[in-house]
Amino acid sequence: MKKINKARLAVLSTITMTVFAFIACSNDEESIDEVTSTGELHAAFAEFDTDETSIYLSGSNVVIETTGNPNHTTVYWGEGNALYKEEPNVDLTPSIIPNYDASATLTVSQNPQKASSPTSTSLGAIGIAISGAAIFNDQEGNGALDQAAASLDYTGGHIGPQEYHYHLEPKAWTEDDDKLVGILADGFFIYGRKCNSTGAYPTDLDASGGHTSITQHNTETEYHYHIENELYNNQYYLIFPGAYQGTPSSIN
Ligand SMILES: [Zn+2]
Ligand SMILES: [Zn+2]
Repeated sequence: MKKINKARLAVLSTITMTVFAFIACSNDEESIDEVTSTGELHAAFAEFDTDETSIYLSGSNVVIETTGNPNHTTVYWGEGNALYKEEPNVDLTPSIIPNYDASATLTVSQNPQKASSPTSTSLGAIGIAISGAAIFNDQEGNGALDQAAASLDYTGGHIGPQEYHYHLEPKAWTEDDDKLVGILADGFFIYGRKCNSTGAYPTDLDASGGHTSITQHNTETEYHYHIENELYNNQYYLIFPGAYQGTPSSIN
């Protein structure tokens, strides 16, 4: 008899707890959105230039708004501009940064996940660098980047038919180190050729140059990319010749 009573009690208390939990859930329904949208921005976002970018949470997403303009010197600012840098060896494309409205917005999950299969990148911006300017892939107008190599400035950027953008390791702030480069359209961060977790070139990268480890911005492990540590055309490092491992959002 005692055993049966205990069993009944257990069943009863389970039901009671379920009912309470249900009531608690329905009462809290409205505050769930508030809880997720009052989370904190990932520490890596503090590296983005605050003059060029505006970054904030919206529900469970992060919104990155950028002027699209780089916060550093380049020949592409044009003579007379405070950030103009003379680069006589650059085969200039016929335009300058102030002639473009390069502003863009990217909205990604605050907690991006890897997708079940990779997604190829396409022409146009594939990410936003901490400088404010766009990150492009390893193609130039659907052709090999070599054709446009002469027009790239000291930091691997140029103006193609579109706004100023980087194809190569942006030496204006990262060269053979573990600095943050920016964020890609799938919400994952991309770092320099070295990883802060070991201080060395990572040896466990997937086909997209990504792996899961701690970073200088997270004591918990998280998936992130690195600039490809392989010389392209015997002279430079491509930022991201691979495919997205997450689900890309549009940058526009
Ligand atoms: Zn280009
Ligand atoms: Zn890493």
